[in-house]
Amino acid sequence: MNKIRILPPHEALKIAAGEVVERPANIVKELLENALDAGATTISLYLEKAGKELIRIVDNGCGMSPEDARLCFVPHATSKITSLDDLETIATFGFRGEALASIAAVSKVTLITRLSTETDLLGTRIAYTAGSILQEETVACPQGTDITIADLFYTTPVRKKFLKQDATELNQITALVNAFCLSNHHVHFKLFHDDKIIINAPAVTNVKDRCAQLWDYTLSEKLLDFTPIQPHPDYLFTMTGYISQPTYYRYGRDQIFLFVNNRWIKNSELTKALIKGYLQVLPQGRFPAGIIFINIDISRVDINVHPKKEEVRFIRPGIVEQQLAASVQQTLEQHTTSMLSFVKTQESRKPFFLSPSGGYGKQDLGTTQGNSVNQGYQNQELSTYTSRQASPIEIGYIQARQSTTFSNSSFRLEKTFHQPTFDTTFFENLNVQQTDFVTISSDELDGTIIGQLFATYILIEHRNELIMIDQHAAHERILYEESMEKFEHKEGVAMLFPEIITLPSGHIELILKEQDFFDHQGIKLERIGERELVIKTSPPRLNNQSIKELIEYAAVFIEEHEHLEQEIFRKELNEHIHSHMACKAAVKAGDVLSLKEMRDLITNLAKTNKRFICVHGRPTIWKIDRFSIEKNFKRR
Ligand code: ADP
Ligand code: MG
Repeated sequence: MNKIRILPPHEALKIAAGEVVERPANIVKELLENALDAGATTISLYLEKAGKELIRIVDNGCGMSPEDARLCFVPHATSKITSLDDLETIATFGFRGEALASIAAVSKVTLITRLSTETDLLGTRIAYTAGSILQEETVACPQGTDITIADLFYTTPVRKKFLKQDATELNQITALVNAFCLSNHHVHFKLFHDDKIIINAPAVTNVKDRCAQLWDYTLSEKLLDFTPIQPHPDYLFTMTGYISQPTYYRYGRDQIFLFVNNRWIKNSELTKALIKGYLQVLPQGRFPAGIIFINIDISRVDINVHPKKEEVRFIRPGIVEQQLAASVQQTLEQHTTSMLSFVKTQESRKPFFLSPSGGYGKQDLGTTQGNSVNQGYQNQELSTYTSRQASPIEIGYIQARQSTTFSNSSFRLEKTFHQPTFDTTFFENLNVQQTDFVTISSDELDGTIIGQLFATYILIEHRNELIMIDQHAAHERILYEESMEKFEHKEGVAMLFPEIITLPSGHIELILKEQDFFDHQGIKLERIGERELVIKTSPPRLNNQSIKELIEYAAVFIEEHEHLEQEIFRKELNEHIHSHMACKAAVKAGDVLSLKEMRDLITNLAKTNKRFICVHGRPTIWKIDRFSIEKNFKRR
């Protein structure tokens, strides 16, 4: 019944000894993999102090014989491999026989295990400390394995120092357990922290239901079936999964999970490729949800590059990234097309009857015949779309491509803004009249507001230049500098309807840790549940939705920047929060402005320090000189 063999030393040596155990999450990962390898269908994980004090995992898998229970702590003891050649083909998770040995070397381990095949009611209990068996006894226990890791790093106190705050360590574990839940939806997972249940995810039949279980019961409605594009002939692999609709977004990458051969991987390039698929769909700083499973022949990847097996090296990474981005685009495209065709059918039922008295100059056909003409036209339009595989989104891409060149050139301009080539006296010379209408008047005004373009840009004629100001970017800059100035002790206003927000477990702790800070910003928070906060006061100008987004945004930011020194961290958080608040409160692209508002905006912008870039680093101002305009008209 024994399954474990010791690898011959020459084989063992071939396997690079890696750091398996760095933090609690690494241990949890190894133990969860072992439980899944053992065929468990129910796995419970108990943590104390984010795993620093205790990690216990109970599974109902195959269990171990007394001999195996003793052997499993020996380095390179494994039931899953006999030689290095097996590394190429191994399908199970663990494959180096190193995990338990490494873990037992830095902690106090108690193993209780009983074979699930034996009818014997008794199992084995082994206490293993500092590399040797302390105690061994026969005990009555359920089938499966129950392993407890206590006092992590008690033998290596230096490593203990490198552990992050509980909230951060716990977050890493939660993300990890989420990943295991997604890749093993048929397994019942439970995660307890300090006796509180954080995750309880009974077995489900599909990944979509799993997402609903883990995050939000409405999330499964917002997920689209991922449709991969044609496989690449030179590098074959398959992709399945779900991505979120364009209307859904997160402030971080916490709902992006990539799996290769059902193994969770962290691959920033692939993650970027997924996000790239949402270019021009989601605004900057917003992230989609995406659960993608890539299946690839094991000979086409190297999973052993990373000691913790978190990284996968594709032989041809470029192809995978390109296929992923293109597939995301295609999925969104199909979704948008289907949405639009819905709109079109609705339209075709009531075509052009809206202006009986002339209205906007559309001909009032008003007859059945007219109706069918319209319908015919629209159907034709629709079929041209489908016949050449294009859609409004494709038009979006063309625009995106154009705007890429645009932003490239504005990037160059942004650079030149920092050089003294831009006439900074422009603002000083702009003596806008106090009337509502600004007219050309060479005595009083050096520049003239022409008006608004696309309800987004303010156009100004100034000497030999046409100047465009992005109204949102400009207003953002103004509000940001204003609010940063009056930073100390801001009074919040009581919210008419206190906003309740639900945060992923872990994030709530991050926010509460900075409660003082939020207090200073006029944001009063209170915890009202395991994952709920109530916001009682908010800075003026921010509506409920914005303040809610702000908190979600801040949690992700805190998580990512916690390692910074306190002072720098506070400063960064402060800037981050103010830029977000400014962004929310600023006029939007599409807001129609009066001349007075435009004038105020320009004069206020003139007073700011960094008037040429918005808080996100985009330019606020762009200009074209007369020469370039005339060149385009072939006047020169
Ligand atoms: P590996 O998983 O790479 O083989 P480990 O050190 O993680 O190495 O585990 C050593 C061996 O202990 C495994 O090969 C397996 O036979 C046994 N084992 C570990 N955990 C369990 C478990 N939860 N249930 C059954 N057997 C286990
Ligand atoms: Mg293992």
